[in-house]
Amino acid sequence: MKDRFGREIEYLRLSVTERCNLRCRYCMPEEGICKKRHEDMLTEDEMILAVQAAASLGIRKVRITGGEPLVKKNILSICQRIADISGIEELCLTTNGLLLPQYAAALKAAGVKRINLSLDTLRPERYAHITRCGELHQALDGLAAALSAGFEKVKVNTVLVGGFNQDEVEALASLSVQYPVDVRFIELMPMQKQDEFGADAFLPVSYVTQVLPQLQKLPFDGKDVLLYRLPGGQGNVGLISPLSQHFCGKCDRLRLTADGHLKPCLHSSQEISIKGLTFEGMRERFLEAIEAKPACHGVLSATHRSEAGRNMNRIGG
Ligand code: SAM
Ligand code: SF4
Repeated sequence: MKDRFGREIEYLRLSVTERCNLRCRYCMPEEGICKKRHEDMLTEDEMILAVQAAASLGIRKVRITGGEPLVKKNILSICQRIADISGIEELCLTTNGLLLPQYAAALKAAGVKRINLSLDTLRPERYAHITRCGELHQALDGLAAALSAGFEKVKVNTVLVGGFNQDEVEALASLSVQYPVDVRFIELMPMQKQDEFGADAFLPVSYVTQVLPQLQKLPFDGKDVLLYRLPGGQGNVGLISPLSQHFCGKCDRLRLTADGHLKPCLHSSQEISIKGLTFEGMRERFLEAIEAKPACHGVLSATHRSEAGRNMNRIGG
């Protein structure tokens, strides 16, 4: 279905939980999340009903995210039921990868076609620092598990953080030569409290092309990623620039949070609740959310915080 600005809205990001087994510094507070009442969160049946309502309005692609989706006990059942919904052509999942050795084959069997795995550094001490509690080998084992499970596509998502991993751009991009994976560098987004990130942390992704002049530009994919390839690359290198050059004009997505709020725009505080509604009620709220999509989000920069009103783990990045 088209929104007011003629954009075809066909992509839903569904956050299945706010919880996570990591505490990435740009995403979540150290102490984790406030304990939520179970009854305030969407049930599995409500998630399925919501995707059915979305599919009836033209949503074709669903990405499962969180928090960390693989800490959700019923994640396989959720995936399987969404993959079976008529009209859903593509089911993808974003994960930190830690639980993929255990889940990759079952996710594939449940109908997940593509996996995005978040990895900001290849140095164990830096991984432990940025995630506050993770061990790099767990994420790398997860990447290996994703590759051997035979997904249609595996992408590595790297948040580019000035003063943290900017000297690893070449090593991270080279994963696309070593393995059949796309590596995507994403600009750090200024969400809620992130006092530890100064202005230098907000590095534009054009930095990647500066330090890797050998990158060959590929045709624009028409979405939100500038695509390149390293010589000998098996996969692409992508640049995603929510700060320096946003792609709101091409935005085709809605987000549904684990506590049942539709967000017409990632960086707006507007939320529309669907908790407890019937199929028809949810359908109406989806229509409202599509109608409410703004042309563009406000300015984002080191000094202009997102107006999302939530950290990323509570939205679903
Ligand atoms: N836990 C899963 C993971 O880490 O892949 C899925 C949820 S996580 C919120 C989704 C993505 O959002 C991750 O790739 C993460 O790096 C990204 N993210 C979180 N906070 C961010 C921020 N402030 N700026 C840019 N990306 C962010
Ligand atoms: Fe967890 Fe993903 Fe957020 Fe890291 S980015 S804290 S892994 S939800």
